Amino acid sequence: MRAQVVIIGGGPSGLLLGQLLHRAGIEAVVLERKTRDYVLGRVRAGVLETGLVRLMEEAGVVGRLHREGFVHDGTQIAVGGEMFHIDFKALTGTPVIVYGQTEVTRDLYDARAVAGARTEFEVEHVVIHDADTDRPYVTYDQHGDRKRIDCDFIAGCDGFHGVSRQTIPLNVRREYEKTYPFGWLGVLSETPPVHDELIYANSDRGFALCSMRNAHLSRYYIQCALSDHPEDWTDKAFWTELKRRIPAEMAERLETGPAIEKSIAPLRSFVTEPMRWGRLFLCGDAAHIVPPTGAKGLNTAASDVNYLYRGLVRYYQDGDSEGIDRYSEKALLRVWKAERFSWWFSGLLHRYPHQSAFDLKMQQADLAFLRDNESQQRAFAENYVGLPY
Ligand SMILES: Cc1cc2nc3c(=O)[nH]c(=O)nc-3n(C[C@H](O)[C@H](O)[C@H](O)COP(=O)(O)OP(=O)(O)OC[C@H]3O[C@@H](n4cnc5c(N)ncnc54)[C@H](O)[C@@H]3O)c2cc1C
Repeated sequence: MRAQVVIIGGGPSGLLLGQLLHRAGIEAVVLERKTRDYVLGRVRAGVLETGLVRLMEEAGVVGRLHREGFVHDGTQIAVGGEMFHIDFKALTGTPVIVYGQTEVTRDLYDARAVAGARTEFEVEHVVIHDADTDRPYVTYDQHGDRKRIDCDFIAGCDGFHGVSRQTIPLNVRREYEKTYPFGWLGVLSETPPVHDELIYANSDRGFALCSMRNAHLSRYYIQCALSDHPEDWTDKAFWTELKRRIPAEMAERLETGPAIEKSIAPLRSFVTEPMRWGRLFLCGDAAHIVPPTGAKGLNTAASDVNYLYRGLVRYYQDGDSEGIDRYSEKALLRVWKAERFSWWFSGLLHRYPHQSAFDLKMQQADLAFLRDNESQQRAFAENYVGLPY
């Protein structure tokens, strides 16, 4: 079997790349380890930069996003019981859209199905062969059969734990990593959001985030110990702790309900360089991870897709390889800026073990500078709504 591009991973980066390539007349097969329902059951990102929305428009899958997505012109930052607003629209002219990653993924799967594009689910033991030659191929097992696809290029969109990054030899790959000494306990509940914008809260008891998926579905997070397990936290304990970390006015207004999903995510900053090895290109979480503070994970995956998609189109339509040759360099330039913003914003809001009185004063001064200084707010807003591609 043959395809122009094999995409490993049917998460948002693989699906978006696949749909864009399909619209450009480039045949791409997506290989996904899990079932479609499993992928759609994962509750993750929810804040979309305009760059990602434009790519969804280009991919022809934006109808529901525009109908059901919520335009957020700004965000709230809470410190010591007070809140201040950062007005993205006024500072940058650009809002963000709140629309769940699950919905993005669902729209892309539906579009693939309508287009008759090939997605292989429940593939196992994916192996990338000869990526450093002109004749790469991929083998995998599916329902007991061993299969092979020959191709021109391979897009490694298989997330942090996938095979693609591991295929790049250790003497070529350089990895940069920072782990954080806490996690985020997240709860999804069928309750109206406490505020019409996200609230990022710095409190003496640790970080909290009030987020949402739609008018009836809220997503809340609190910083927790890495040793915690979701089952350690009853719903009641979660709501009580959340209320202690947000301003009293918000705590009073907060509607609580049973958690329909509860999970703990560790926080990590990670980048691998280069993002290309021969004819293998890494995209999204396969190449980099950010802590979720600032909602850059999915959005940075989308910017990789943008560079790779345009590079492949140039290669196939004009015979020009400049775009794919410079893919890693261009993608990494933007990746590191997103890493910096996510790392900085995490540092601004969380309580760290062994944080000294001096460290806390620095955090408070940084927050006060953000609250009081328009230039700092503009820099924040530019990063939050997404740096240009
Ligand atoms: C709990 C949590 C909360 C998050 N919250 C936010 C947020 O609020 N904002 C934000 O921007 N980002 C957030 N993120 C990050 C965001 O979800 C990711 O950046 C995004 O999913 C990256 O998409 P991806 O397609 O690159 O990788 P993934 O979504 O990881 O998709 C990779 C796909 O590859 C498949 N796969 C893996 N290995 C193989 C294999 N060997 N063969 C075939 N298929 C394989 C996987 O099953 C998966 O479907 C969050 C992440 C987590 C875990």
